[in-house]
Amino acid sequence: MRASGIALGSQAGRVLTLLREWPGLEATAPYCTCGVGVAAGTCQILHLHADDDAELRLTRPAICRMYPALAGTERVVFGRSEDWVGIRLDTEHDTDLLLTLLSVAIKACDRGGCHQAVTPCSAALYRDAPVRLPAGTALA
Ligand SMILES: [Zn+2]
Repeated sequence: MRASGIALGSQAGRVLTLLREWPGLEATAPYCTCGVGVAAGTCQILHLHADDDAELRLTRPAICRMYPALAGTERVVFGRSEDWVGIRLDTEHDTDLLLTLLSVAIKACDRGGCHQAVTPCSAALYRDAPVRLPAGTALA
């Protein structure tokens, strides 16, 4: 997998290196245009937005099932998008957690998650959101 925009020595770079061994996954340009995407077939299931920031498309049902187990960790960030969770990648343990959850994302994809309407990742959500300035803010 190519690591466009991701430092090879970073945890995100480590993820891309380890995923070379996973069948059926392919690095791709993410639709949010931020970092590197990983797709299973035509379904983008992982976005590496930065060297230390990933978003994983778990889908709402899987997030609801796993929320009690994951809510206690500071590494998983909920609420960025309904179908995606954020994962901070500071250590190898974070990368290991991401790869474990990636298996869940792949299963969600296999069960037809790819054909359901899902919310986009947070980078795409915020990119497409209209900018609202506070009243009285002057534009330069
Ligand atoms: Zn994204």
